[in-house]
Amino acid sequence: MDYNLLAERLFPHITKTPEEILAQYPKRQLPEGAKVTRMGPSPTGFMHLGNLYGALVDERLAHQSGGVFYLRIEDTDKKREVEGGVQVIIDAFSSFGLPFDEGATLEGDKGDYGPYRQSQRAEIYQTFVKDLMKKGLAYPCFATEEELAQMRAKQEERKENYGYYGEYAVWRDRPMEDIEKELQKGTPYVVRFRSEGNIEHKIKHDDLIKGKMEVTENDQDVVILKSDGIPTYHFAHVVDDHLMGTTVVVRGEEWLATLPVHLQLFRAMGWKPPKYAHTAQLMKIDEVTGTKRKLSKRKDPELALTFYKQQGYPTQSVLEYLMTLLNSNYEEWRRANPEKPMNDFPFSTKKMSVSGALFGIDKLKDVSKNVISRMTAKEVYDEIAAWSRENDPDFYTLFTRDPDYTQAILAIGRGGKKPRKDLALWSDAKPYMDFMFDERFTPDYTMPEHVSNEDARSILTEFDGMFSMEDTPESFFEKMKQIAQNHGYATEMKAYKQNPEQYRGNVGDVSMVVRIAIAGRQNAPDMQLVMQILGEQRVHERIQQCKDALA
Ligand code: GLU
Repeated sequence: MDYNLLAERLFPHITKTPEEILAQYPKRQLPEGAKVTRMGPSPTGFMHLGNLYGALVDERLAHQSGGVFYLRIEDTDKKREVEGGVQVIIDAFSSFGLPFDEGATLEGDKGDYGPYRQSQRAEIYQTFVKDLMKKGLAYPCFATEEELAQMRAKQEERKENYGYYGEYAVWRDRPMEDIEKELQKGTPYVVRFRSEGNIEHKIKHDDLIKGKMEVTENDQDVVILKSDGIPTYHFAHVVDDHLMGTTVVVRGEEWLATLPVHLQLFRAMGWKPPKYAHTAQLMKIDEVTGTKRKLSKRKDPELALTFYKQQGYPTQSVLEYLMTLLNSNYEEWRRANPEKPMNDFPFSTKKMSVSGALFGIDKLKDVSKNVISRMTAKEVYDEIAAWSRENDPDFYTLFTRDPDYTQAILAIGRGGKKPRKDLALWSDAKPYMDFMFDERFTPDYTMPEHVSNEDARSILTEFDGMFSMEDTPESFFEKMKQIAQNHGYATEMKAYKQNPEQYRGNVGDVSMVVRIAIAGRQNAPDMQLVMQILGEQRVHERIQQCKDALA
């Protein structure tokens, strides 16, 4: 067989040589040890948590080492592509503030290693396929869907491995006449790689996450170019990551199964493969069965990245939570360094989970409470304003009516060693603080069980004559104690616990009565501060309103 002839017959339009293409992608000039990573999402219109999880690994590896993190759009599968899919990808990453240094942008390519959309690289892939063909390492295969199905049925019957290999690789060594005949007929064909692999052989692989392992050599003649002249993932991965200078490929563990194909292709091309980091699946505990399972697009809304924005999760919380899933020592580091930016943490693939990382919304909320508690009142104000403007316009109007007033509420319990942790989501702001807006004040005056309405009114009457805008936390508490004493309530918890029958209740009940009157509920931030923000007039009004309701 004259392979040169075959290559020219199939790729007459390819006139460049591999060398010419390689010359367009010079080695990157980067400091020693700098890593080059990339995200290669497909524009399916759906971005999921796994994409972000992987992207964070890519981003940290690159930027921690002074390297490059780029975006490549893997749009080789036209069937899965949706209109606007690229925009969805770019928006998702930019909303999480993961900065790409180069790659596809909405305004076109940025960087010297493009084009960064695989659909624009057909000529490049075909140049390398043509070259493989000339070397006898690739050939056209005209097998129809039907023939492939028959092959599979036969393999099933014989209990043999599935696939296109050995005697089943019927187009592997076909004479030129047969090929010519099909070409004349216009039969569609794919191009396959000629595998010299043997499944008896094992290859050593040292994965950055999974560690050392042995994988079975590939003996299949895999498709490298589809009938539309567009490469498969396998071939595009090898060509692009080589040309674009990727040093670490971070991708889902579902790709481990075809890693032998990729290693084989790198070898055939005479290129050094990148390092690989295969990330474990994100898992969750199923709410119904209580067992661990993969996150599913159909069942779990939290798999979609859009979920977090809609619900009002701070992007930083999602990133920090993913970091706690990524590196087992992150939480400890965060506790020791509450003020430092997350990116100061020394991220390492060695600390990554080899099996599945367990994702849980409750844990995310905990992390988020911590993240928000470390922000300033102004930052929190701006974020809630931005979120509610889009998602809750009525609340937005109230919230932004008097920014100083709103920020004073948000400042309660902020700063200091033990900041309050009331908010996990921006949408929590409304239930947390709506009692501070008269329009939204819908009190529930149910008093603690053992405090009669009569007692409550009497406590409130006394308090009304006593409280002052000048109160400090200490003087305020002294007043609570005094009222307790005057009403036969214990002023000390200890005394109350020792002889509960001697008292009508304790000072905590007195505070609770005041809190219910002012906030209209049992849970509310520090009353003394709340009252200062509400102002004297409104405090009197609220006390009166409560007394009237209890009468
Ligand atoms: N396009 C592939 C995917 O969406 C990318 C895998 C990779 O990063 O290599 O799964």
